[in-house]
Amino acid sequence: MAVDGPSGSGKTSTSRGVARALGLRYLDTGAMYRALTWWFIAQGAAGTGVGEEAAGLDEERIAARVAEPRIEVSTDPDDPWTRVDGRDVSDDIRTSEVTARVSSVARVPAVRERLIGMQREIIADAEPGIVAEGRDIGTVVAPSAQLKVFLTAASEARARRRAAERGDAVDDTEADQARRDRLDAAQSAKAGDAVLIDATDLTLEQVVGEIAGLARRRSSLACTGDAAN
Ligand code: C5P
Repeated sequence: MAVDGPSGSGKTSTSRGVARALGLRYLDTGAMYRALTWWFIAQGAAGTGVGEEAAGLDEERIAARVAEPRIEVSTDPDDPWTRVDGRDVSDDIRTSEVTARVSSVARVPAVRERLIGMQREIIADAEPGIVAEGRDIGTVVAPSAQLKVFLTAASEARARRRAAERGDAVDDTEADQARRDRLDAAQSAKAGDAVLIDATDLTLEQVVGEIAGLARRRSSLACTGDAAN
């Protein structure tokens, strides 16, 4: 199953909740882009600028070294972790420094090529199935996913949710999200056959319930279809 959408739409909590409800694995593709960004920052290869101008980072250098770090992610919805070269970076990849630079790293074609290849392998190996969340899962990473969801919410609701999680100001968070949405636009798309869910006025439980219900109906329809053929 593919769950795409902008930052702060609740993709992570929703995808983990759906994976738990259906007994599936879970993949946070954003964590992989963050892990690579964290490694480049640690290497001093991600430039010195902040925010959008982190594009002061050197694309060629990034492309040349993209295969160096070993990136591992857990697919257990109850125990998600991210490791780089064996080190647990689950907290390090959520800092504002990584958040400010990740979009610039994620735009480098060599970065996408490596991480999308890894994501496809993880998805192919997942038993009995997986909920993968990101920006391009339904369109690029797994276009043949059984169910595609595009999760969105009003920008103020997204900012409120993120700010509450982190203890930040809502205004700053909203501005940061708008900047990231702009930088991520080329990599983010709703698949034509994705179900659009607007979570603005829904609780997490309601969103999880709706998606899990959709998935159950699809798989029972698939069984009916098999029997009929
Ligand atoms: O989902 P999250 O906010 O953690 O993603 C961090 C960043 O990783 C996004 O802002 C985007 O730049 C990048 N990303 C991406 N493609 C994905 C998932 C995330 O480019 N499938």
